[in-house]
Order: sequence, then C-alpha cells, then structure tokens
Amino acid sequence: SIPLSFFGGIGGASRRGILVKGGNYLEALARAEIVVFDKTGTLTKGTFRVTAVHPEQISEQKLLDLAALAESYSEHPISRSLKEACKKEPERSEVSDVQEIAGQGVRVKIGGKSVSVGNAKLMEQEGVHGRECELTGTIVHVAVDGTYMGHIVISDEVREDAPEAIAALKQLGVRSSVMLTGDAKAVGEDVAARLGIDEVHAELLPAGKVEQVERLLGQKTGRGKLVFVGDGINDAPVLSRADIGIAMGGLGSDAAIEAADVVLMDDHPSKIADAIRISRRTLLIAR
Ligand code: ADP
Ligand code: MG
Repeated sequence: SIPLSFFGGIGGASRRGILVKGGNYLEALARAEIVVFDKTGTLTKGTFRVTAVHPEQISEQKLLDLAALAESYSEHPISRSLKEACKKEPERSEVSDVQEIAGQGVRVKIGGKSVSVGNAKLMEQEGVHGRECELTGTIVHVAVDGTYMGHIVISDEVREDAPEAIAALKQLGVRSSVMLTGDAKAVGEDVAARLGIDEVHAELLPAGKVEQVERLLGQKTGRGKLVFVGDGINDAPVLSRADIGIAMGGLGSDAAIEAADVVLMDDHPSKIADAIRISRRTLLIAR
C-alpha cells in the first residue's frame, strides 16, 4: 500500500509544475545517483539563431531558402529556426519524398533533385565533403544531387537556470551529471564546460544514446537510480529505458509526455533538484 504522504508529495510537486506519474517514481527520485541530460531543447532552449551563412556557388539567401524549403515538413527545433530565418513562407508543395533521418537531418526531392540538409554524418552518407570554417555553433550542411552547396551556422542558448540546475544536483549529492547529444563534439563540450557537467558524449545517433544510458545503468551503486531528462525529440527510447524518465512538457512531443514518468510543465531543468527535494521530504514523513 502507498502511504498517504505520497499523495501529498505528488500534489505538492504538481503545484510546482512537476507532474509525477506514480508514488514509485516519487520514491525513486530520492535516490537519484546519475542524472543524464539531452542537450538540445533540454539544457538549451532549442531556439536557434542563424549566426553565419557560408554558401558555395549560390547566394546566401538562396542557401537559406533552399535549406528552409527542404526542412518544411520537419518539426525539429533546427528546422523551425531555419524557417524563421527566411522571410517568405516555403512553398511546401515543391517538396516530395521526405525522409527525416534522426540525429542527422533531412533528405527530400525538390524539382527532381535530391536535397540533403543536416550534419557531417549526413554529408558522409551522401558522399559529400563538407567544408566548415567555424567551430562556434551547430553546423547545417546543404547538398544537392551530391554537390556541396555550403553551410549555415546556427546557435542555441543555454536555458537561464541550467547552470544552477547542475550545481543544485551536486549539492544534493547526485554523483554525476552527464550530457548526451547528437550535435558536434565542439558544441557539446562547450555547453558541458559552461554548465559544469561531469561527462559529455557527442555525435550520438538515437541508438547511441540508448547504449550510453545502458552503460551508465551498469555503473550505479547500491540502490541508486538513473534519471534521464529529455525533450523527447529523438530520445523517447531513452526516456523509457531510464529508471526515471523526465520530459520537458513545453517543447516536448506528445510521445515524450507519454513515455515519461515525470513531466516538467514549464521546462525549467532546475525543477529536477526540486523534485528530488520533495521526494526526500515525502519519504521522511512516510517513515
Ligand atoms: P540533441 O541530441 O542535441 O538533442 P538531436 O538528436 O535532435 O540533438 O539532433 C542531433 C543533430 O542532428 C543536430 O545537432 C543536427 O546536427 C542534426 N539534425 C537533426 N535533425 C535535423 C534537421 N531537421 N535539420 C538539420 N540537422 C538536423
Ligand atoms: Mg534532443
């Protein structure tokens, strides 16, 4: 039977915008030992700004328009930001054969040509050699029929409360904070360093994130728990693999909210430390 105080704990958490889907998760939170974060949309806002455009053979505006057009069916934060950067609404009807490749980008047909927009991994698949001249942001490469057309540099911002969220976990005795990302190594390491994250793994495909979480599950000691926090875009499998899966409710997809054990209604990563505190207090009362 569930002690009455657990209902109080769940109610208290929900008043702070933390929805806990059961007393067992509330109890497990008290023993969080490893907290694993997804980067884009979780520790960062997921709202990218275009900071540089490096076209080859076409104009800057044409490169931006082409990327936004190719991305017109994608719901990824990168896609939304590219569409914002080009003034006119992309003509979706020109796009067909849409393939969204998780952790890499998109491949579509426009006017009989194959257009790919995404990271270095995607370019490798296309047999195209991308030329990057900047290491300060997320790079979006564009290729048409195997010809390199250039790249767009975009930057995301870390969430205001992200540094404090990581510091608070340390203070609560959480052994390690880990960040997983499909983004480039340089970007992942920069964000991790600025936030005080202990361990970072970059350039991961969704399956690679599951592998990392499984490895980390094997490193737990005693009755410690592994928490995974994500926005659900490309990470729903990890959300369900963790002992406690936490989804960002604001940006998160319906699938993520479904797969998660805990949902943060207002997207503040600092709410994870709050949830652990509420859990510990509830257990004290229950005893
Ligand atoms: P994260 O692991 O940081 O949450 P994702 O797994 O969603 O990020 O994406 C990983 C990487 O894959 C991105 O940094 C980007 O390089 C590439 N990517 C994914 N989707 C797209 C897209 N729609 N357009 C361009 N690039 C994309
Ligand atoms: Mg993500």
